[in-house]
Amino acid sequence: VEQHGTPTRAVSTTCAYCGVGCSFRAELQGDQVVRMVPEKTGGANEGHSCVKGRFAWGYATHKDRITTPMVREKTTDPWRKVDWDEAINFAADRFKKIQEKYGQNAIGGITSSRCTNEEVYVVQKMIRAAFRNNNVDTCARVCHSPTGYGLKNTFGTSAGTQNFKSVEKSDVILVIGANPTDAHPVFGSRMKKRLRQGAKLIVADPRRIELVETPHIKASHHLQLRPGTNVALMNALSHVVVTEGLVNEAFVAERCDPVEFDRWRTFVAEERNSPEAMADKIGVDPQEIRKAARLFATGGNAAIYYGLGVTEHSQGSTMVMCLANLAMATGNIGREGVGVNPLRGQNNVQGSCDMGSFPHELPGYRHVSDDAVRGSFEDDWGVSLSSDPGFRIPNMFAAAVDGTFKGMFVQGEDIAQSDPNTHHVTAALEALECLVVQDLFLNETAAFAHVFLPGTSFLEKDGTFTNAERRINRVRPVMEERNGLSEWEAVCRLAQAMGYDMTYNAPSEIMDEIARLTPAFAGVSFDRLDREGSLQWPVNDKAPNGTPTMHVDGFVRGKGRFMITEYVPTDERTNRSFPLILTTGRILSQYNVGAQTRRTENSRWHDQDVLEIHPFDAEERGIADGDMVSIQSRMGAVTLPVMISERMPQGVVYTTFHHPVSGANVITTEFSDWATNCPEYKVTAVQVARSNQP
Ligand code: SF4
Repeated sequence: VEQHGTPTRAVSTTCAYCGVGCSFRAELQGDQVVRMVPEKTGGANEGHSCVKGRFAWGYATHKDRITTPMVREKTTDPWRKVDWDEAINFAADRFKKIQEKYGQNAIGGITSSRCTNEEVYVVQKMIRAAFRNNNVDTCARVCHSPTGYGLKNTFGTSAGTQNFKSVEKSDVILVIGANPTDAHPVFGSRMKKRLRQGAKLIVADPRRIELVETPHIKASHHLQLRPGTNVALMNALSHVVVTEGLVNEAFVAERCDPVEFDRWRTFVAEERNSPEAMADKIGVDPQEIRKAARLFATGGNAAIYYGLGVTEHSQGSTMVMCLANLAMATGNIGREGVGVNPLRGQNNVQGSCDMGSFPHELPGYRHVSDDAVRGSFEDDWGVSLSSDPGFRIPNMFAAAVDGTFKGMFVQGEDIAQSDPNTHHVTAALEALECLVVQDLFLNETAAFAHVFLPGTSFLEKDGTFTNAERRINRVRPVMEERNGLSEWEAVCRLAQAMGYDMTYNAPSEIMDEIARLTPAFAGVSFDRLDREGSLQWPVNDKAPNGTPTMHVDGFVRGKGRFMITEYVPTDERTNRSFPLILTTGRILSQYNVGAQTRRTENSRWHDQDVLEIHPFDAEERGIADGDMVSIQSRMGAVTLPVMISERMPQGVVYTTFHHPVSGANVITTEFSDWATNCPEYKVTAVQVARSNQP
């Protein structure tokens, strides 16, 4: 652990980056962090950390941070520094005028998966109670919204089924559309340890990720499928399970809906879903698929771990349901070592979704049209709430371009950089009459803003994050707020300026309200978290000590529900003009769009995104390693340096998206998941050519 001085005090808190949610001891000299030491008692990390978390404190004091509120009449005007009252009143006046002129539904907001549960909760409450509509969505829209949809429909709750420790009991591990050693390194190490002990590994990924072959680990099967054929592959695997007599009949009979199961069994057994019938589409030897299916069904405890390579597709939700179907059919749910486990990209994706960030759901994933649930919030909040689902992010953008949506509050999220189809997003943001950005830095989105409310870094926050295993961890203030006002307080004051009385004395009171109104959190409090370290929801009368493994005696929805998962090819097609498929991912040292990691010591290890391309595809185009290349899609073009790599199959190219200059979202498509509108980031038809640009 690198150290930058002699520590005089220490505070325990939680990493601000990925969904592993590692616990750290921040050691300080005065108000300056000198090093971050992973906590041995951390439930998620047990004393381990990665290169991102260790240096995360660097961005909290970076010179780029904005610590004073700012406003401007027009986005072409220079920013004017103001005090908090003026900034909040400016925003509230504009929002109120917009609603008077264009109607109640003309404003909304987006919550951030990087903010605490308490900060997210107050934003969704402000929108529902002060804006008086349900136009709230979350940045999880563009990553794990299909997880929410798929797992709720099949199991009854929108969350992963296991704790991380469970992998130590797995005999077979299926990793699909995830790269844990880069994106979730501490969990990736835990998985590698189990694999070195002899657990079998199946990797389904177009790219040869590190886990496929690394010292002492070799995947039994690397199913190197074509991007966009996930559902075809999963149906083929399930076809083998069903037609070769590998279904766990006892589990299915006891735990699952028999009618839905029979429908599903008949569907996947159809010859058109066999590995042989699907082989050309998937691009994988059918015998490999058959062997992998047999291993998964008969190899002992089989666990599924997946990431955005599953969700960010036009069939993302279908694919999540495919995974649930396979787990139920083989009896791999409800005990340690098995399960369906989404690896969340951001520290609080799980929490931001739990807190009611979707336009159709109040906290705890309960539909806004449920009178009893809505009534309990109305009684507590002292206001009547809309029973109509509000706008999703893409609906907000479309309505902004149409001129009917005019104001937006954006919490800690750089939508101009992270959302697909940058030109469309830009047009929408330009059309707004009031954009309020609450963030640490003047990000790309702030270029379109009228009000900038400076945010607090994770080292200044008091609250909780919920990681990918539903573990609620405490986030404690390590240093003084640099901006003079907590984010939750700024939101409460904006709600008040809009005419709705929203006050708390401390974030612990917000958690008390969450616990009062959300059954899965009924037993959660700051006192208890401080005493016990962490808790995995549900925590209530039925599970007073929390729930490491879900669906042990029965599914949350009652009987497990098999869903029909018809494969529908994406509308994004290759042709002579765009013959290659671009897919995207992350690397170890960087996090998301890089706004934080580029401002830490991690910038030393990765200063630009590169395009990986197979040697044959490069040779065909006269491209040498290190050349600058232009990547052209139907939506636009970007220029990147190239890396020739045998990790890629022929016909597929790959890049990361950690630097704004690469502008990967300029070229991604307009297609999205049919159920949730999660963008199809993982499949873009492109052409690649040498560029004259230096
Ligand atoms: Fe842990 Fe993820 Fe932070 Fe790394 S980035 S220290 S794995 S929470």
